[in-house]
Amino acid sequence: MGVKKVGAKPQTLVEKIFFLDFIKGLKTTIKHLWKKVITVDFPYEVVTPPPRFRGVHGLRTVDGTENPEFDSWVKRLKIKPPEPGETRCIACKFCQAACPVPELFDIQSEKLDVPEDHPHYGLKVMTVFNMDLSKCTFCGLCTQACPTDCIIMTDIYDLSSYTRRNWVLDKDMLTQIANEFASRRRDEKFDQHSQWREDQKLWPEYDKTREKLWDFNMPKLGPNYHDQTA
Ligand code: SF4
Ligand code: SF4
Repeated sequence: MGVKKVGAKPQTLVEKIFFLDFIKGLKTTIKHLWKKVITVDFPYEVVTPPPRFRGVHGLRTVDGTENPEFDSWVKRLKIKPPEPGETRCIACKFCQAACPVPELFDIQSEKLDVPEDHPHYGLKVMTVFNMDLSKCTFCGLCTQACPTDCIIMTDIYDLSSYTRRNWVLDKDMLTQIANEFASRRRDEKFDQHSQWREDQKLWPEYDKTREKLWDFNMPKLGPNYHDQTA
């Protein structure tokens, strides 16, 4: 079998004398020198991501803009009706059920320790909501599964950390992130019911699909879900 030798095309005498290759390279450099720069000098400069950007998660609170089904979900899961400013999370774990990496969530709820004659007797509150974002693929499925529009994805993209532990966000951090995000970019992202605007849904048909698949059918995926129906 013959072997064909290949190599750089030899330069002509004219190319060698007048440094034509060098001039060609310089021409390209000069052409781009005056173009608008599209990169930023992070972290000294930051960008504002587009509205559909899927960044760090947040947990929204009750602010009077809940979706029309919110109260029925609260009743159904026997959650203490949240006051304004309290979390919208009803500990249904639909987000975890939808997640391709469910172990990144740790969601727990507890029954309130109140006497039998108390109006909140037998009702629960969400007590733990941890997310390990080092395992997250930022697919957005959790936000689409949430029946109360509680869990959202924000415009925060800087997840740098010196320790893995810092990637685990608890309910207080997630709530603060969502509150700040909502006040920063709310009009761009949510309609009057705090739902994603039609033009910003990843898959606009998701609401109908969720209604069909999960309407009041809580996922039962094993021992991690025991407190949902207790
Ligand atoms: S964005 Fe995707 S991977 Fe990350 S928590 Fe949500 S469902 Fe899970
Ligand atoms: S789906 Fe929404 S309401 Fe249910 S546990 Fe997740 S964040 Fe909370």
